Amino acid sequence: MNLCNPAVIREVMARAGIRFRHEYGQNFLIDPTVPQRIAEMCADDPESLILEIGPGVGSLTAELAQRYRKVAAVEIDRGLIPVLAETLAEYDNVTVTNSDIMNVDLPSFLAEQSREGEAGGDTKVSVCANLPYYITTPILMRLLECGVPFSTITVMVQKEVAARLTAKPGKSDYGAITAVIGYYGTVRKLFDIPRSAFLPAPKVDSAVIRIDLYEKPPFQLCDVPFFFGILHGAFEMRRKTLTNAISAKYPSLPKQEIAKALTAMNLDENIRGERLSVAEFATLSNCLYPIWHGTNET
Ligand code: SAM
Repeated sequence: MNLCNPAVIREVMARAGIRFRHEYGQNFLIDPTVPQRIAEMCADDPESLILEIGPGVGSLTAELAQRYRKVAAVEIDRGLIPVLAETLAEYDNVTVTNSDIMNVDLPSFLAEQSREGEAGGDTKVSVCANLPYYITTPILMRLLECGVPFSTITVMVQKEVAARLTAKPGKSDYGAITAVIGYYGTVRKLFDIPRSAFLPAPKVDSAVIRIDLYEKPPFQLCDVPFFFGILHGAFEMRRKTLTNAISAKYPSLPKQEIAKALTAMNLDENIRGERLSVAEFATLSNCLYPIWHGTNET
C-alpha cells in the first residue's frame, strides 16, 4: 500500500470515518522519498528500538519497521488506530499505543517495549517523529528530561524552529532550548522539506534535525538544577545584561560576585546571556553555585 499516495490516504481515512484534525497538527507526508530518508538517517543500529511519536497513517512507521528491530508508535488520535491496524498489518515488529505522548511515562513504557525489559539496557533506543508543530518544544523538553538514555532524537520540525535548535551562541535564533539541547547532545540539520510534501499542505516549510545524545554529560556541574536556573534566567530576560538577569532570578547573589565570575572567565561583565556557549554557562554556574548556596544556608 503506498501510504504517501493522497488517494490512498483519503481512502483509508474515509473507510475509518475520520477527517484530518488540524488541532493535532495532522499534515501527512505525500512525498515517499521523505520518510525513506528520515528512516535511513535517524539511527545507526538496526537493532534499535524506535519510539515514533504521531504515526499518522503510518508512512514513516512502515519505513522504520523495515529498517529497525522494533517500532513503538504513540498516536493521540483514537480514530487513526484502526487505520494503522490496516496500513501496518504486514509488520509484526510495530506496536501502536493510543495516547498523548505528554502523558506517557516514557521510562516504564520503553522498558516494557524493549527486549530486556529495561530501557537503556542493551537495547539502543532512538526517537523518530514528524512532530506536530503545536507542541514541538514541550515534546523535545520531555524527551530530553525524562531520563531515558536515547541514542538519537530525529524530528521533523518547522524550518524556523530547526534554525533555532541549531543556532550558534550570539545569533538571534539562539535561545534557551538551543542551550538546553547543547547540554544533552549535539544537533545538526539533516535536510529541508517543502510544504508541498504534505497533505494538507501546511503554511510553513519544514526541516529534519538529529540530536546525538551524549552518553555522559561532558560538563561537570556542581548542581544541575542551579545550572538550568541560570540558563533559563538568562533567556527569560534576554534584554538585560546577564548580571542583571541572574541577579533578578537569584536576588541573594551579589551582583559584584556575578560580575567577578564573568571577568574571571574573560567575559565582559555587561555581556548578555545569548552570547554564552553551554560550556560557559556550566563554568559560570559552577563559579556561582557555592556563593549562592552559602547565602541560602541557615
Ligand atoms: N508521521 C505522520 C507523517 O509523517 O505523515 C504524521 C505526522 S503529523 C505532522 C503529526 C502526528 O502526530 C499526527 O498523526 C497527530 O495525530 C499526532 N499527534 C499530535 N499530537 C500528539 C500527541 N500529543 N501525542 C501523540 N501523537 C500526537
